[in-house]
Amino acid sequence: MNSMIPTTEMEQAYLERDGSYDGLFFLGVRTTGIFCRPTCPARKPLPKHVEYFPTARAALVAGYRPCKRCRPLEVDDQPPWAADLLTEVERDPLSRITDGDLRARGIDPGTVRRHFLRRYGMTFQAFTRARRLSGALNQIREGGALDTAVFESGYDSHSGFRDAFARTFGTPPGRYRKGECVAVSWLRSPLGPLVAGATAEGICLLEFTDRRMLGAEFAAVRKLFDAPVVPGSNTHLESLEVELASYFARSLRAFSVPLVYPGTAFQRRVWEQLLAIPYGETRSYEQIACAIGEPRAVRAVGRANGLNRLAILIPCHRVLTKDGKLGGYGGGLRRKQYLLDLERSGGPVVPKASNP
Ligand SMILES: [Zn+2]
Repeated sequence: MNSMIPTTEMEQAYLERDGSYDGLFFLGVRTTGIFCRPTCPARKPLPKHVEYFPTARAALVAGYRPCKRCRPLEVDDQPPWAADLLTEVERDPLSRITDGDLRARGIDPGTVRRHFLRRYGMTFQAFTRARRLSGALNQIREGGALDTAVFESGYDSHSGFRDAFARTFGTPPGRYRKGECVAVSWLRSPLGPLVAGATAEGICLLEFTDRRMLGAEFAAVRKLFDAPVVPGSNTHLESLEVELASYFARSLRAFSVPLVYPGTAFQRRVWEQLLAIPYGETRSYEQIACAIGEPRAVRAVGRANGLNRLAILIPCHRVLTKDGKLGGYGGGLRRKQYLLDLERSGGPVVPKASNP
């Protein structure tokens, strides 16, 4: 069963709006009768008015109403205006929504900017530009005329198109003929949103979005695969979304999506050992080091573990310290514990939280 999160730890996480606790506990405000996620942007009540719950259901049963700002009943924490903007961009990738347009709708451009940077690793303008240009990528890849690509992505001039293309994908259009790109999507999970990336060969990125600066992460992925990073989907990402949902619902124990994980020979040996740890079991860093025939390389094993780009899929969460402690986890230790509990227990996952 899930381990209990001490009240002091929940108080601290709530105080800091720590996204790595999203989904792991909820809190009710006695004076208003409203319950929230730990990351709620609303003003903080006095601690004595706060009551903690392990699940949204427990807060509802206790008579609390869901907060309209952090929307604790929705798996995704996307505010309604952001969901609307995304729908609009998907419907018409060529549409341009300026700061003035946002203001006219009563949406603060600064809020949009911060939300997109945090959630998508790029500004809203960069996001829509990438969506607009992804059609051009396909055309160039298929050997289409540059003129057509320029026109169809809504640019009036070649130079404007070239600048936007290079700024967005890190490669001028003339040099982009290799035909590879990394598609990135954002997937929902009970532990907060995950960012997933895939090449034509398979999944190459899966991380909790608060793990590190996404912008830097995308730059690293672009360099590693020598390919532009484009918001969008492909068949591997579609399969992953279905498999992840089944994993969290506990109806899937082994993923079948193909994985792509370039690295040094040593890192690949470590990652392949991680892939060999059965669902519901754990190993120590020492055992992994022995398994690859390098019993003295425990620290290097730990480092390779930490550099895993495929959270959950390459199950680095199944590695513990020698004395059974959690050790480290890029996504936060509470998430590691949640994943281990999910895989170990037979019943539904209900993270316990202690009530004051
Ligand atoms: Zn709230």
